[in-house]
Amino acid sequence: MRILVISDIHANMTALETVLKDAENFDAVWCLGDLVGYGPDPNECVECIRNLPELVCLIGNHDAAVVNQLDASTFNPEARRSIEWTQEQLTAENLEYLSQLRNRIVLNQVTLVHGSPRSPTFEYLLDTYLATINFAYFETPYCFVGHTHLPVQYLLGNGQGFARLQIPPENKAIRMVSRSIFNPGSVGQPRDRDPRASYAFFDPENETWEYRRISYDIKAVQQRMRAASLPERHIQRLTGGW
Ligand code: ZN
Repeated sequence: MRILVISDIHANMTALETVLKDAENFDAVWCLGDLVGYGPDPNECVECIRNLPELVCLIGNHDAAVVNQLDASTFNPEARRSIEWTQEQLTAENLEYLSQLRNRIVLNQVTLVHGSPRSPTFEYLLDTYLATINFAYFETPYCFVGHTHLPVQYLLGNGQGFARLQIPPENKAIRMVSRSIFNPGSVGQPRDRDPRASYAFFDPENETWEYRRISYDIKAVQQRMRAASLPERHIQRLTGGW
């Protein structure tokens, strides 16, 4: 069984299409949230994801803000502008789809959240200190998170007091170690200074994780963002992956 794990698509249909093509064959898709926000293609992305096979999809903080489950004033002014633009664009059906997504799901020995097991929609697992604390908030051997847009793995071995951080190798299925928190990185807005779209494969039978990167046509997305008058900073950051 090959499960495609994606997160933080952020309405970037070019990146999403490229990832799905590159992933080629998979039996199920787990999407860790933030389908929309920042990017120019919210309807296209929601519709594409809704139709993926054996989909499990969580709500992200941008999705929650778009459907008014989260106060948009907690976002910076540019992100807020993009959320308001997204609200105007989304069809009633797609808004309805986002509004019924859950913020935490446990299956196949994995806890799935957007941000962190302690605070599923909001918290950013940006360092080993926060990761260590969060191991107490899930019971499964593994937890998958998105939200930081950084492809990393946090490990906490038996009897160890402090989690350590590891960047998984590219294009190589690694044996998963219990207990670990995995982040597949971001499809539509990577932030590790590598502008390529990021995703992963999870094989629950063999307990492996394979992290992948793929280049996509960033200029095409930036053109659509400019045409929609989306914030210039969000357009620029796609080039450098920050
Ligand atoms: Zn995000």
